[in-house]
Amino acid sequence: HDNMKEVLKNKTDIEHIMRSALNEDGFELFYQPKVNTITGDISGFEALIRLKAHPISPGQFIPIAEERGLINNIGRWVTLNAIKQISLWREKGLEGKRISINFSSEQIRDHGYIDFLIASLNEYQVEPKDLEIEITESIFLEETEVTLLYLNRLKAIGLNISLDDFGTGYSSLSYLTYMPVDMVKLDKSLNDKFLEADSKGLIDALISLAHCLNLEITAEGIERVDQYYKLKEGGCDYIQGYLFSKPLKVEDIETIYYKNMLDKIV
Ligand code: C2E
Ligand code: CA
Ligand code: CA
Repeated sequence: HDNMKEVLKNKTDIEHIMRSALNEDGFELFYQPKVNTITGDISGFEALIRLKAHPISPGQFIPIAEERGLINNIGRWVTLNAIKQISLWREKGLEGKRISINFSSEQIRDHGYIDFLIASLNEYQVEPKDLEIEITESIFLEETEVTLLYLNRLKAIGLNISLDDFGTGYSSLSYLTYMPVDMVKLDKSLNDKFLEADSKGLIDALISLAHCLNLEITAEGIERVDQYYKLKEGGCDYIQGYLFSKPLKVEDIETIYYKNMLDKIV
């Protein structure tokens, strides 16, 4: 019943909850492994934000944060904490895996962001190649030149750029030929719909398309082993989903950091 109450909270309540979370250390990051399809090794982790004290999902509060002008502060908090985490894990001997963070299209208007990012990387002696930024197609609705310049600056620093939720937006392919993107993430809804026996060809085609554009490809929201085998056959590079692991707390990631995730399905 607590859950119901939370769901019914209005935007202004959620805004206040987010404001206090920013001031009082009320957010935390969970991490979900991204698994190399062939080897089963964990290649990296996606950082996903949570409210420590409230069962309100980011799918619910992030759009409100964007609307109420809180996304820049949240985005910086996520950036700094992911960078800190890379350095904390390195101190424990856990290294070599990239963390990806979600970047809301609104954040392109946070003018100090790139300087903040560089300063944070320097402070914690983290190499840019260990960090990846996940953008969504809506960023291409912004002025193309501004976006291109912005993404090129991120690339120039040495970060990887990943295009999230691929296949759900307005998917114009032309921008993929000139935007500096390294990876596409095939959305769960596409995988759910097209990994069935008779329509798998579409997924195979999208994987080939990504590879033709020199992009790597991750399939998201994979829950079943038959989906895994189909994606492997189609040449998909990485898999993310409950089949291998839900997003986990830091301590739980530490116990599986070097594990082979294929052990889970054989
Ligand atoms: P997303 O970036 O597409 O993240 C993937 C979502 O799918 C996550 O939900 C993850 O927990 C969920 N997921 C992963 N594997 C499976 C699976 O096998 N089955 C199912 N049913 N779900 C799976 P989550 O953590 O609730 O995040 C929802 C969305 O909120 C994210 O979608 C992203 O758009 C946004 N978000 C989360 N963290 C952040 C953040 O730090 N910053 C920003 N700007 N947005 C964030
Ligand atoms: Ca994402
Ligand atoms: Ca996604």
